[in-house]
Parts: sequence; structure tokens; C-alpha cells
Amino acid sequence: MKTSLFEKFLNINSWMVTLALLGVAQSGLSQNRFSDEELLAMERPIAGIQSFWLEELTFLEIRDLIANGTTTVIIPTGGIEENGPYLTIGKHNLILEASCPAIAEKLGDALCAPVVKFVPGGNIDPPTGAMKFPGTISLNAATYEALLTDIANSLRQSGFSDIVFIGDSGGNQRGMENVTTKLKSEWEESSARIHFVREFYSPGWEETESFTEQELGVAESSHDGYHDDIWVTAMMMVSDPEQVRFEQRVEAGLASINGVAIFPLEETIELGKQMIEFRSELTANAIRDSINIKR
Ligand SMILES: [Zn+2]
Repeated sequence: MKTSLFEKFLNINSWMVTLALLGVAQSGLSQNRFSDEELLAMERPIAGIQSFWLEELTFLEIRDLIANGTTTVIIPTGGIEENGPYLTIGKHNLILEASCPAIAEKLGDALCAPVVKFVPGGNIDPPTGAMKFPGTISLNAATYEALLTDIANSLRQSGFSDIVFIGDSGGNQRGMENVTTKLKSEWEESSARIHFVREFYSPGWEETESFTEQELGVAESSHDGYHDDIWVTAMMMVSDPEQVRFEQRVEAGLASINGVAIFPLEETIELGKQMIEFRSELTANAIRDSINIKR
């Protein structure tokens, strides 16, 4: 039997309607199949993976890590600011990308929350400090403290027992300290504790500098006059040499900072790794001390 074009068209159309209806029914089903309680109680259907970054884990992996003693979470604060002519404006975040997992690994029972990339960086209008430079994103103190408060309260709600602020930039410290003071009293009845570990910033930076000079024999011999130095450059290169514009600087004959050459590439990355190792050890010890004092 011959079907007319029109009949074919009708058939196709009814198929499409059927498929569309099925689609709606299925998506409706998948949304309602498990209750929140069932999801929270389910066994992991697949093996977990190893990551120190909270955002790279599933909620089931996080649930099981907390239940098995991974009860500390670090909230690292970075920034988006001017950093001299060679370094990208994400410098602080890039340094934390390498440092935070190293600290968590040393602690053995810790994860890293996503890096807080937005921090105070000067008055917006009229602009002061880093805000005078294109690309900088600045929060006023109240916005920053509100952001940190909500992140810390969320992580307490997840079941972490020790919530730790560390920050790579000077302008971040005051806000973390204020929020910690406030949450300490708000959490008094709770089993969770809030910590501000200034040591990552200070003496973390200074001690890493003297370690590099005294133990590794690498010291700056001049000052190029930029918001940049061999410590930030080498630590950034551990995560991504492109963000210090390594190749372009080699090409332009500008592959040094404050009198220290940044090539060969592998050597500077190795230097950065040693800096991060030192600074992470110092910070992990300070976090452990803070947790032990509070218990
Ligand atoms: Zn900074």
C-alpha cells in the first residue's frame, strides 16, 4: 500500500509528539524518583576519586569523607588584582591552586573549598590601590565579610567540624579575622569551630623568603620596581608558566625578576615547588596548633 506524502508527514509528526511526551514523562520521572532523604542515605553506586578540592567531589564522596574523619575544610582567599607587567591578575588564586592541596595533604584530614577569588582590592569609585588598573575586581569590606560568612556557615551545615580561613593577599586578612571573631561567638553552642590562620600570609611569606635565601641560596639582587618578585613568580609557575608569560619573556629577553633568572623552566618550577612545600608545612603546623588549642 502506498502512503501519500501527507500521511508520511502525519506519521512522522505523531512520532515526534509521542517522543516529546515520553521525554517530558521521563524527565518528570527522573526528577522525582528519589527523595532527598533517599539520596542522602544511598550507597555510592561507583568508586570515588581522590581530590583535595571540594568542588571536584560528588556529594556522596564528601559525605563519606566527612564520616571517615575528613572534618577540616580550608577556605582559601585569593584575589583579582594588578600584578606588574608580566603576571596575570589571578596571581593569588594560582598560588593557592598549588598551595591549598599541599596543606590539605599534610593535614591528612582536610579538603579545600573553592578559592574565594573576590576580595577587597581598593575603593572602586574613585579608584584606589589595585582598582586603578584594568581587570581588578574589588569587594567592599561588608560584601567580602558577608561572602565569607555564608561560605563558612554552608560548610558548617555540611558537617565539617573545623573551618579554616587562609589568605594569600594582605588586604584579605582583616575581613577573615573579623568574620572569625563574629562566628566564634555565633557558633558557641555548635560543635564546629572557625579558625583564622594568618600564618599562611604572615610569617608565611617572610619565612619562605628567608628559607629561599638561606637554604636554597636564591636571593634577589635588584628591584625591577613592579608588583612582582621571584617568590610569586616561581610559585605561580608550579601551576602554570603561561601565567607569568614565560615564553614571551624568554623571547623578549626579560626572563628574570629582581635579578633572578626564571629559566631554565624546569629549575624555576622546582624552586617554586620547594617554596610551596616549605610554606605548606608551616601553614599545616599552624592549622594543627589552632585546632588543638580549641579542643
Ligand atoms: Zn595581593
